[in-house]
Formats: sequence, C-alpha cells, structure tokens
Amino acid sequence: MEKSEGKVLEEKLFNQKKSGWETATDDEKGLIFKFSDEYMAFLNKAKTEREFVCRAKEVLDSNGFKDLCTADSVKPGDKVYSVNRGKSMYIAVIGNKKLEEGLNLVGAHIDSPRLDLKPNPVYEDNEMVYFDTQYYGGIKKYQWTAIPLSLHGVIVKTNGEKVTVNIGEGENDPIFTITDLLPHLAKEQMQKKLDEGVAGEDLNLLIGNMPYVCPDVKEKVKLNVLKLLNERYGINEADFLSAELELVPAFNSKSLGFDYSMVAGYGQDDKVCAYTSLRAILEAKVQDKTAVCILSDKEEIGSMGNTGMESQAFDNFVAELLNKSGENRPNLLNKVFCNSSMLSADVGTAFDPIYAGVSDRTNSAYMSYGVSFDKYTGSRGKAGGSDANAEFIGKIREILERNNVHYQIAQLGKVDVGGGGTIAYILANKGVEVIDCGVPVLSMHSPYEVTSKYDIYSAYMAYKVFYEEA
Ligand code: MN
Ligand code: MN
Repeated sequence: MEKSEGKVLEEKLFNQKKSGWETATDDEKGLIFKFSDEYMAFLNKAKTEREFVCRAKEVLDSNGFKDLCTADSVKPGDKVYSVNRGKSMYIAVIGNKKLEEGLNLVGAHIDSPRLDLKPNPVYEDNEMVYFDTQYYGGIKKYQWTAIPLSLHGVIVKTNGEKVTVNIGEGENDPIFTITDLLPHLAKEQMQKKLDEGVAGEDLNLLIGNMPYVCPDVKEKVKLNVLKLLNERYGINEADFLSAELELVPAFNSKSLGFDYSMVAGYGQDDKVCAYTSLRAILEAKVQDKTAVCILSDKEEIGSMGNTGMESQAFDNFVAELLNKSGENRPNLLNKVFCNSSMLSADVGTAFDPIYAGVSDRTNSAYMSYGVSFDKYTGSRGKAGGSDANAEFIGKIREILERNNVHYQIAQLGKVDVGGGGTIAYILANKGVEVIDCGVPVLSMHSPYEVTSKYDIYSAYMAYKVFYEEA
C-alpha cells in the first residue's frame, strides 16, 4: 500500500524516537554483547573508586600510556595519565593542535553510593560484634539491609604501611550483612514512613559471634574478631582510626532478562560512564584536539575535597600538560578551558513504567533508545543547574548523527518533583562548553542498578567520536 501524504509528512517532520535494538544488525548486537561482557568483568573487579583507579591504571599501562610525572615533555601522539591520591585520575591523548585551542573532555565519576565504616567502628552488644557505619551519598537505607555486603578499602598504620582490604568477593570469603526485623514483629516499623523505617544509626554490620574463651575478658567476641583481624592484616583496633573501609554489595553484575539485553549491577552510577569513557580514550583515533578523560571522586557527596572535581588538582594536571608541551605563558590555563568542550559523562534516570508518575513522558530517557543527554540539570526553575548552549548541542548532534550514534535528549523527571546535578557545572564555570551525557539507569543508587546493553555501547560510541571530532 502506498503511504498517504500525511504519513510521508509525519516521517519527515516528527522526531522519530525508537529503541536502538530495532535497527541493530546482528554484527552490531555481537559487538554490543561482547562489550558489555567486558564491562561486567571490569565492574566486578572495580567496585570502589580506589579499585577502579587500580584497574584503569593496569589497562593504561599495558596500552602505552605513561604517568605524566615520569615524562619530561609531551608531544602530539603521547598518551599520559595522572593518578590523584589513588582515588581519581586524569588521562590525556595529545593531539596535533595546540592545547590552547581547547581540549575534548569526557568526565565521569568513579565513586558510588555505599556504606563507610565510622572511625571507631567495632563494638560488641550481647555477644554480637558489629561495625558501625555511616552512609555515603543518597541511599534508600532500607535497601541495604538483608543483603550480602563485602568490605573494601585501606588501613594505614602509623609506620606508613598501607594494608589493602578486599573481603567478601572471593569464592570462599565470608560476607557480612545488616540484619532487618522479621515481619512478625515489625508492626511498628511497618507503620513508619519509608525513609524512617531503617535509621541511619541502625546500619550496623554483623561481623562475628564466636567468643575468645577466657575468664577475665568482658568483650570476648570482640576480642576474637580483633585477634582474627590481627592475624590476617597485622592491625589492632586503633588502626581503624586511619582507615577508609567501604561496604558494597557482595554480589556481581549479571546479564538481566531472558533476552540478556540489560546489565544489573552495583555501582553503575557512574562506573558505566567511567568504563565507557575509559574504553573510548583507549580506542579513539585522536587527531586534532587533545582528548582528556576525567575519572573523579566524591561526586555523590558534592564533588568537594582534594579528589573531587571542585579541587584544583585537575587544573594542575592541565597546567602540567601546558608546561611539558612547552606551550606555557601567563593565564593560558583559562584560555584552554574557555576553548574546551566536554561531555559530563554521568548516568540519567530511565523511564520506569512502574513509577511513570514522576516522569514527563515526552522528556524522559527510555531504556535502549541510546545514550541520553540532559540539556540542563538542577531543580525547580533549573536552580543550581548547568544549562548547555544550543550552539554546542547542535554541533554534538551533527557529530553523532554523521557517525550513526543513537542518542536521546531528556530530563531527570517532572518539573518540581525533584532534581539532581553532576560535575558539569564545575567545568562550565571555568568556561568549558558542557553537556550531561550518559547511560539511563533504573533503580539508581540502589545496590543493584539496571542499564541497557544497547545504551552502554552507544555511550562508548558517543564518547569515542566526541574525543575524535569535537
Ligand atoms: Mn552519577
Ligand atoms: Mn549518583
């Protein structure tokens, strides 16, 4: 049947949105599934910011990247990185153009919501021993009880020795958990508001129940746990004072669905964008402008501190590139930023039909519709948000469409329902052209976040062509 004039006009004029799977070829599906397998394997070995930095450094070292501090100079074609205190890092591939003509930046964060141990974490109560915790980032506290948790991080002794801890991930490792009340006795708890059902101060991790048998010690179970910790790590209770220990879900990421089309896993906000931007800079053919990948820390608590994006550490990295390229003169750093472009690579929320009421259907990101851009963030009347310029978005659309990268432009939720932000504003405030661009996520900030494999691959493609062509 011949199409009506109206149908032809509709195809020409409407913004035709559809799932990327509808047009993906078998070859493309093969690439997408292979890529997401590699992503899941990486994610399972990089559940914290420190672990992500370690894994990324290994990958970079084996792909010809050098630590910037070991390089006397940099020239076009050089590949360098710099690690900031083991928790954030910056990676650059030097282009043929001068740095002052601007950088092509992709910036993600590698911290995720979790539970941290308090500085004095160990206590015994009725012959049960616990680690006391403080949550990190925006979590729904009730989601963190009654699931297996693993302990990751470092303990630094007064002699400077640093002990790396990773327990709960190995086949024969024990796990830990925070207990919840049985429904039979939870009548009062169940009447509470959801955000009060489990109190922050009650997020106490169960770590032991066996006593060290001895007549004159009061806290026998605590003594037994500390004895085991001393045998394993050579530490005593006071060493927790100088430790950073994080609790994350002990389960691994997995393919989700009969069709294997999705990934379920902890920490995808924002390690899905961090991994894709890392892969993209490894594989991009950088010609003109210098490509820079930022893997920042502390985004989930406001980007503050010397490993967060607000720190001068990144400016120092760019200043070092200028120094070592022999291109420096006063105030050049400001010019570099004002000439730079950036994709702020952070996850957005995917439309969830079960909770459709919080979303504006025409401005939502849909699972498998491709990498998603947020023109602006913030809340209410865009307060506190970074709003990308139309000229910049037009340029990005041209690059993506010419390279057949499936994308969508959306917003976080309905007006006045809530809001959020990323590191975009920090770079925008320095003069960089920035737009938020990442993978849509279901169950964001939960112990088990969900993404589409199609969107993961399209984020990787978007970051790659951006490094190459922006
Ligand atoms: Mn994020
Ligand atoms: Mn987040």
